[in-house]
Amino acid sequence: MSVYLDYQAAKPVDEKVIEAMMPYFNKDFANPASLHGHGDIATEILKQSRKKVADFINAPNAEDILFTSGATESNNMALIGSALKNKRKGDHIIISEIEHISILNIGKYLEQQGFRVNRVPVDQYGIIKLEKLKKLITDETTLISVSTASNEVGSMQPIEEIAQIANEKKILFHTDAVASEAVIPMDVQKIPFDLVTLSSNDIYGPRGVGALYLKKGVRVNPILIGGGQEKGMRSGSENLTGIVGFAKAAEIMKSVINEEASRLKKLRNKLISGVLEAIPKSHLNGHPEKRLPNNAHFRFDYIEGESLILSLRDVNVSGATGSACSSKTLEASHTLLAMGLLHEEAHGSLLFSLGRYSKESDIDRVIEVLPGVVKRLRKLSPLTPPDFLK
Ligand code: PMP
Repeated sequence: MSVYLDYQAAKPVDEKVIEAMMPYFNKDFANPASLHGHGDIATEILKQSRKKVADFINAPNAEDILFTSGATESNNMALIGSALKNKRKGDHIIISEIEHISILNIGKYLEQQGFRVNRVPVDQYGIIKLEKLKKLITDETTLISVSTASNEVGSMQPIEEIAQIANEKKILFHTDAVASEAVIPMDVQKIPFDLVTLSSNDIYGPRGVGALYLKKGVRVNPILIGGGQEKGMRSGSENLTGIVGFAKAAEIMKSVINEEASRLKKLRNKLISGVLEAIPKSHLNGHPEKRLPNNAHFRFDYIEGESLILSLRDVNVSGATGSACSSKTLEASHTLLAMGLLHEEAHGSLLFSLGRYSKESDIDRVIEVLPGVVKRLRKLSPLTPPDFLK
């Protein structure tokens, strides 16, 4: 039996999405920029797709959506684009300590370019400290970027409060919504975001396509220069097939998100209680309640997450260690360290993320095999106190 519980790193493309994409590979494949009738068909489908993605987050205008090559590019555009656009107003940007690596590295890049970047600390649950955030704001702050939720420990951030703080101070607020896209509905008319990063694959669309929502009136500098597509904001021929898939995925997700999230939450709760009950000295990382409904992030004393993943491979169970997207790095997770965990604690962590095709039998299988795997690794680990093994 094979169990895949690494949905935070990659999701399969929904069959209905694949079906919707098929005609755009070789039938209606024209370039929307072309002036002929075939180009008109492509232009129309691009327009409809933009509207579907806008509807997914309740954006008032389809034109508020810019298509990109994925979340990394959207994050680059949001942070670098707005830093450059607002350079004369100020040179200060605030992110959090637990952002996705794409944002953390953009922060470093902006520092190299002469901008000042502060990182708001988090509490033991991985939730950002609002009071600290307020204290970091200066007259030169032009952008605050905090994700809707941690892509690692799943802690949901107080984004409504952050949006309010940013709004009052007339600072742009960007959120990377990728970690929560498939489980928490987003409404940009309810919460005043200025910029939102979205990814297609994270809602069961194809990889290599994403979007940046830009509230009407918000301006950023383009970072891809060329033929002037996407109103000059993002050059490069539109990935029409991918965009059609993204739009179909958004349409499906909008109609099932609440139902899917509550199903996953039940499974996830079963997984958490099953693992914590069956394995001594096991802990849940992140907030017990304010967490994504599909996220179960554990820590096991005396062993390393990497050896756990490798042992789970042998029984065909796929989870992740550290950050779901870059778990091949052997560095301790920056998120867990920011939460105050020691290096050895951070290394003993394991993330299971659930998704559309997760079944109860997957959870049962993990609860069946994991205790034995942990026990065996603890026997081999020099960190395990001899008394514990008795
Ligand atoms: N932001 C978050 C929260 C992510 O989890 C990821 C990875 N899935 C990204 C950004 C980057 O996405 P991509 O690699 O598709 O550009």
